[in-house]
Amino acid sequence: MSAGSRPETWIKATSAGLFVEPGGFFIDPGRAVDRAVVSHGHGDHARPGHGRILATADTLAIMAARFGERVGHATQALAYGERLTIGAVSLWLAPAGHILGSAQIVLEHAGTRVVVSGDYKRRPDPTCAPFEPITCDVFVTEATFGLPIFQHPPDRDEIDKLLKALALFPERCAIIGVYALGKCQRVIALLRRAGYDRPIYLDGSLERLCALYRQRGVALGALRAIGDASPGDLAGAIVMAQPGVGPGASWFRYLPEPIMARASGWLSLRRRVRQSGIEIPLIISDHADWAELFATFRDVGAGTIWVTHGQEDAIVHEARRRGFDAQALALVGYGEDA
Ligand SMILES: [Zn+2]
Repeated sequence: MSAGSRPETWIKATSAGLFVEPGGFFIDPGRAVDRAVVSHGHGDHARPGHGRILATADTLAIMAARFGERVGHATQALAYGERLTIGAVSLWLAPAGHILGSAQIVLEHAGTRVVVSGDYKRRPDPTCAPFEPITCDVFVTEATFGLPIFQHPPDRDEIDKLLKALALFPERCAIIGVYALGKCQRVIALLRRAGYDRPIYLDGSLERLCALYRQRGVALGALRAIGDASPGDLAGAIVMAQPGVGPGASWFRYLPEPIMARASGWLSLRRRVRQSGIEIPLIISDHADWAELFATFRDVGAGTIWVTHGQEDAIVHEARRRGFDAQALALVGYGEDA
């Protein structure tokens, strides 16, 4: 895959996002465009109103659930590994391991292969297909947790912290703050994997995407609306809610001495934990940590690393030190899904 075209001549960082010139399409554009390829359903990557959208069927289903009529004019689903030619570019999708439907976008043009990874992680996740390393010339990476201080602990240890607290205080319940898309369903699946088999209660804002995950074949066990719970059921119960929703919700006062927990990769920062007022921080991230970023660069065999968003300075510096040709693309508008 060497001696091909110089990819900076055909993939351009624009104000709307990455533009693949010989195919005439944008990747994860930040505003409505004529033709978009979307890596996954998080709001900073998937936006409504494009003319034509290409993505996995799961991502299109997530976008339809979130945007309804405004999803776009024409959608096309592409299965992982299915190849398509758009203009002078050959394109296919590979699993990114980030959330249900998440895909790396593999681009081949003039003898060069570029992989745009979107957001990705390397840990096993029961709710999505695992990241698949694709050999390439240029690997385009995020750097959300691109500092050496970020070392995500094993998920199982984090889930065990919560289950131990509930075992210790059986009269209390736990409320876990999670983002609605991806984190919520993954934490539920991890609880099930750890043997927690009671019904899990959901704040109303989480119900639709949990239902969608189940429709798409992800097992989540028994789920109940927290609004329907009788207070007598809630000792030892687990309630999922979006961060900040809990204490303001009408059902909150019925919870027996809730243990406040939250699942986020950012909770490895002690300052974040102190500010949030939570008792049990669950360091569970849907992004690669520092070591996993560099393991991935090695696994894909790319000589060149382009960094899209996050802690790009540290990653670029360290990648160059390790012999990669690395540069920041300075794309704006990406961050944690809100
Ligand atoms: Zn994402």
